[in-house]
Amino acid sequence: MNTQPRFDLHMHSSVSDGTLAPAELMQRAADAGMELVALTDHDTIAGLSEARAAAESRGMRFINGVELTADWRGRVVHLVGLNFDTSAAAFETYMQNLMQLRDERAREIARKLHKKGLPENLYDLARDHAGESQIGRPHFAKALLDLGKVSSMQEAFDRYLGQGTPGDVKATWPSYTQAIDLVVSAGGVVILAHPTKYNFTFTKIRELMTDLLEAGALGLEVSFPGVTPGHQHELIKLAKQRECYVSAGSDFHSPDQRWTSLGRYPEFTAERLIIERLCAA
Ligand code: AMP
Ligand code: MN
Ligand code: MN
Ligand code: MN
Repeated sequence: MNTQPRFDLHMHSSVSDGTLAPAELMQRAADAGMELVALTDHDTIAGLSEARAAAESRGMRFINGVELTADWRGRVVHLVGLNFDTSAAAFETYMQNLMQLRDERAREIARKLHKKGLPENLYDLARDHAGESQIGRPHFAKALLDLGKVSSMQEAFDRYLGQGTPGDVKATWPSYTQAIDLVVSAGGVVILAHPTKYNFTFTKIRELMTDLLEAGALGLEVSFPGVTPGHQHELIKLAKQRECYVSAGSDFHSPDQRWTSLGRYPEFTAERLIIERLCAA
């Protein structure tokens, strides 16, 4: 097939840590020429119905999506679930658990940062940014920016929120098998998000893929902003060896992030694009 739709299978709305409302995001995806899109908010499916209506009214094919935070052997990984049935009973409980988990983690992040001399009301400030959405570290980064404690999101992560800093609070995320089971039992497919963004060696990425595929995942992203040509080559090679599907997406969060835009990721050629499977379904 050489007439693939223009697609983007990884993006965030204000329902998690993105800045655009789902409908606005879909409008922009259509403006960017997308024909097939998935909304993949962190740990929530709350934006899907609004996004679907907006996407379909603009003639795009819409795929239900979610980016699940999951534990793999004590490490945090992100799994993109696609094309599942949102009415599956298990979703409700799973999402509620994640909402609670993220809220408790946020309170702990605030406590830790308060100990480091930051204002006591940091949870409330971050919550103001999150609203009723899934709260995450980017909401804390925005609060720190407002307070003038940092001068960029990057600095907020470097000093307060990123790996090895006080705000890097470990949570007991669901295991990768639970995440995969959830999506697969709802008729969906699971793809490893941005494999080179976990600071894993390629040996570790290969081990991770072995476990994920064994547990029922179908593939991995091979193109996303920031992936180097060398890494992309390795990822495509890995997918070929495992005969698994490949996916791609912009991981778009906000128009303010100059390095990402909707529908944009490094060009690539690979067999078994996940959209072939999604379109056949
Ligand atoms: P959380 O899911 O709460 O752990 O937050 C992770 C999110 O923070 C990611 O999905 C990114 O959107 C964002 N993020 C991670 N590292 C950085 C960084 N260095 N600068 C800006 N945003 C980041
Ligand atoms: Mn994010
Ligand atoms: Mn991610
Ligand atoms: Mn993402």
